[in-house]
Amino acid sequence: MKFGGTSVGDASCIARAAKITVDATKEYRCVAVVSAMSGVTNRLIEAANFARAGNGAQALAVLEALRKQHEDALISLVPQEKERERFRGRLDEVLAEGRRLCEGTALLLELTPRTLDAVSSLGERLSAPLVAAAVKEAGAPSEAIEATELVVTDAFHGGAEPQMELTRAKSQARLCPLLERGIVPVVTGFIGASVEGQLTTLGRGGSDFSATILGAALDADEVIIWTDVDGVLTADPRLVPEARTISEISYREAAELAYFGAKVLHPKTLNPVVLAAIPVWIRNSFEPERPGTKITPEGRSIGGGVKALTAIRDVTLITVGGPGIVGLPDVVGRTFSTTAEVRANVLLISQSSSQNDICFIVASPDAQRTVEALRKEFARDLEQHDVEHITVDPNIAIVAVVGENMRGIPGVAGKTFSALGRDGVNLIAIAQGSSESNISFVIEEKAVKQALITTHSEFGLDAP
Ligand code: ADP
Ligand code: ASP
Ligand code: MG
Repeated sequence: MKFGGTSVGDASCIARAAKITVDATKEYRCVAVVSAMSGVTNRLIEAANFARAGNGAQALAVLEALRKQHEDALISLVPQEKERERFRGRLDEVLAEGRRLCEGTALLLELTPRTLDAVSSLGERLSAPLVAAAVKEAGAPSEAIEATELVVTDAFHGGAEPQMELTRAKSQARLCPLLERGIVPVVTGFIGASVEGQLTTLGRGGSDFSATILGAALDADEVIIWTDVDGVLTADPRLVPEARTISEISYREAAELAYFGAKVLHPKTLNPVVLAAIPVWIRNSFEPERPGTKITPEGRSIGGGVKALTAIRDVTLITVGGPGIVGLPDVVGRTFSTTAEVRANVLLISQSSSQNDICFIVASPDAQRTVEALRKEFARDLEQHDVEHITVDPNIAIVAVVGENMRGIPGVAGKTFSALGRDGVNLIAIAQGSSESNISFVIEEKAVKQALITTHSEFGLDAP
């Protein structure tokens, strides 16, 4: 079971999460994976940036506020001072490490990806002991465990990939003996360690991924992701108030939604469980009696084929173009080996021979290093004007229409685009994968809400 940031957002949320966990242990063996308390990772990254700017005092002030927040939660969760003392020791160690990291950064005025990972990991390392304490109070023996002991990754800081065989061996060796003794392990989400033992993070929102990595490593019967909504909805409820909960959805559909920005799941969440076909549930920790969404290999089909919509906003359109590129061999190959080299996440590609350009979309945080790398790769061609320009447009968004059963149903694209045309939404680019489980289109960022509302009602997704 994984509990997200809002599900461990304060003492009463943590107590609720602990109760859900303890209730489950009456029937099953259960491992809890926890996020940082909501907002904490953002604050830690802020602290790291203060330190990088030489503002050590401000960084330490953030850590002090976080100490107070976790101490307050500990006081309300654990009534006996003597019990509290044990957990406080652990929190103090983690915070002391945070202070050293910030002081070092402020001294060097340099924040390496490795240090940033170390600082941003502190939130999970603080919340896991709190949740373990609460599980103990709720009546089950429990132990907080840092995922650096379990999840082995490559050394790509800020977005590390797990190495499943090593992770499997370590996780089983460490967790199975605890489970056999009836102890509930409470594991930090979001983090792992490289083969050399260096702490890494799996990327923002990565605790979902931690949960399925551990679920697969332990051959779990199921993975339950507890969050602050009733499940996977037909659209982001913050943008489309009429959005409804989907009772069952396939791995592929859920993965498409996650990939195109549905925040409810980290994009890589389903990768580890596909092979073993482990079902994943999304459920509401604030309404634990509701059924939630079940993600299964097949999903369940519904009438019109379209199941849900999603939008991704923090993206940038990059165009490599110019009349000369038609005659230039391997522009496409060179463009995308460059994006691969800088590990840019390419979300959509569209090539137009009449416009003489290749345009593609990357996550905005990847945009600058992608463009720099492309300008280097095509330096000679730019000089000789074979490539005329490499341009960047950050004010765009992708909207994706997702549903496995759109395959073979003609007219989904037509229906989508005529509705958008009617409501005055201008399309910049369009892509449909050959799998036909997603049609995605690029629009101006300011048109996202309208595009979602139009499409949602056009496909009747608001109907019961
Ligand atoms: P957690 O802290 O539990 O990981 P997140 O904030 O990362 O939770 O993800 C849950 C949020 O995802 C919801 O509160 C909702 O606003 C947002 N969201 C976006 N798209 C969807 C969708 N299609 N279905 C459900 N939630 C969505
Ligand atoms: N705490 C991490 C983040 O905010 C991971 C997570 O919550 O899933 O990105
Ligand atoms: Mg999340």
